Amino acid sequence: MEVDKPATLVCTVLAINSTDLCYRVCSICERTLADNPINGPSSPCKFCNFNAFNPGSSGSKRLFRVLMSIATDTKVFTVICFDRAARVLFGCSADEFFDFAKLHPFVADNVGKILEGEMFRMTLAKPKNGNAQHLRVVSVFPLRSVFQPAIETLRELYNVRAES
Ligand SMILES: [Zn+2]
Repeated sequence: MEVDKPATLVCTVLAINSTDLCYRVCSICERTLADNPINGPSSPCKFCNFNAFNPGSSGSKRLFRVLMSIATDTKVFTVICFDRAARVLFGCSADEFFDFAKLHPFVADNVGKILEGEMFRMTLAKPKNGNAQHLRVVSVFPLRSVFQPAIETLRELYNVRAES
């Protein structure tokens, strides 16, 4: 699909790539951090962590980055949904979601099942980065009046009460 200006369309979520839902960024400057299998979950931010003697001095957090295929009445395509739009689908931050998934089995699989088939009105735009291959979800609005974010359905499924 060619989208020169942001386009709003009605679509159904067909599938979510649940193997890779979020990524780590520096909690200060939000630059992407590479996961480092040797030194722990991620290497410190090169830009914020100037103090080599205190490697914990710059923290990291997770942001959503969700790849999914959606269908309109005429076409199927793959889009990428970053943190702000993904929070509408998930109903929580990526860190909260990650912590929930750590404690409960098959959460990622179930997220796919929960969101697949849901209808949304999405605004899509060309990727900001010229090398990026997928359209970016700028905003997402659930069309079903009884829609609830994935985390709420997951809490029901796993019998977990929301922390207040
Ligand atoms: Zn940083």
